[in-house]
Amino acid sequence: MARELTKIGPFRMIDNIYFVGTKEASSHLIDTGEGLILIDTGYEETADIVLESMGELGFDPRDIKIILHSHGHYDHTDGTPKMLKYAPEAKTYLSFKDIKYLNGFTPDCDIKEGDVIRLGRTEILCLFTPGHTEGSVSFFLNVNDGGETYRAAMFGGAGVNQLRKAYMHKNEVPYLCRGLFFDSIERLLEEPVDVMIGNHSWQNKTIQKYEKMATAEKNPFIYPAEWAKYLLSLKSSLERVMGEESRKLFLNYAHRGASAYYPENTMFAFEAGLKMGANGIETDVRKTKDGVLVLFHDSTLERVTGETGSVSDYTYEQLCGFTVKCGDRSDKIPTLDEFLARFRDEEIILAIELKEDGIEAEVAALISKHDVRKKCIVTAFELERIKKIKAIDHNIRIGYLSHSMDEELIAKLTELEIDQICPKASEITPERLAAFHRAGIDVRAFGVRDEEIMRSVYDMGADGMTVNFPDKLAEYIVEMNPAEEQE
Ligand SMILES: [Zn+2]
Repeated sequence: MARELTKIGPFRMIDNIYFVGTKEASSHLIDTGEGLILIDTGYEETADIVLESMGELGFDPRDIKIILHSHGHYDHTDGTPKMLKYAPEAKTYLSFKDIKYLNGFTPDCDIKEGDVIRLGRTEILCLFTPGHTEGSVSFFLNVNDGGETYRAAMFGGAGVNQLRKAYMHKNEVPYLCRGLFFDSIERLLEEPVDVMIGNHSWQNKTIQKYEKMATAEKNPFIYPAEWAKYLLSLKSSLERVMGEESRKLFLNYAHRGASAYYPENTMFAFEAGLKMGANGIETDVRKTKDGVLVLFHDSTLERVTGETGSVSDYTYEQLCGFTVKCGDRSDKIPTLDEFLARFRDEEIILAIELKEDGIEAEVAALISKHDVRKKCIVTAFELERIKKIKAIDHNIRIGYLSHSMDEELIAKLTELEIDQICPKASEITPERLAAFHRAGIDVRAFGVRDEEIMRSVYDMGADGMTVNFPDKLAEYIVEMNPAEEQE
């Protein structure tokens, strides 16, 4: 199906910068006097419009020497293979951190922090500003207008929709990219910019300014207040998205099934947790003496090691509307393999705590076997264990279980690319929560002993909680989100 594309112009924006893109995806051409630089090629279908626009402005695509890409997403790069057919001499530039997104070509040059790209009379400074993607780059150059010099710039990765959890999950983008996005904004706010160039037309109101150009006394693209205003609006958009998500996508992790009611690590107990309204399960994993990975908690250890544990009968009827007695279910402790097979198709998150050293590779292999990487988070109290599993499979999400929640941890967790911190509930304060969120680190509480703590952790805006009474938490979430109920 053809994409709906609306051509804008083409037109000269300011000095030697020309707009040759569409409303949906911007492309800018810079005439350096010794060849052309094209920034972003748009969609595959946009390539024809860009070529046509260049022709209308009297440029020959064979003069393109450099194609710069602000980041790797298809709406900025899919036009490149076609462009290269008409511009065989062009060298393509992109941060290699974004190579995974590309279709149909391999870039020639890796853009790095502080690189200056020179051609003819043009010098473009590249700043590494990740977040929107792992390798988004921003471009800065000087332009002249009416005898004055102005600084023009493009923030190469401005959208916040790609920093929503659903998108990040689907595309295996680490949550930490949110932290990088906030850092990039802080950094770009320090740069004075008079002319904002958008890589989508709505960012700098390309169309409205183009329409004003004929009658305006001064070039409407010269608008020094716009840059900071726009950056700050992105910052608050992402803060808003994250705040909404921590409420709407709050994860209610049943631990040991629903341990306040049914303190056993059986498959049935986990299912009961889900029936009570949990949308996550947390389980501990360790190896039996026979080398099998099993779900584990303190009282099952006895059973694993051969000693008999006591199991008391419990009726579920009043809790979740179905009746089962402990005596009715198998006493067998589920293996991690069985557990993943059972829950792989449920729309829930599975948190797996590594309870001993040396099981990292096997846990990673099972996650891969069941293709549940996107719904798993692997945690441990020991940083070495989670570092190990991350080294085995870089795309596995990892969480650090911690009794404390010191802000000094942030730098360390960021460096280790840890997506989540799981502190003791009593350690969470609104200030700490905000600091971890700004770094793009999810916060899931454990050790929630009573309902009052449960409510205060939820109210503060944490992302999840491991509880022993998932039904009470589920009720509270519904109570706090009355609009959700009506939908
Ligand atoms: Zn993008």
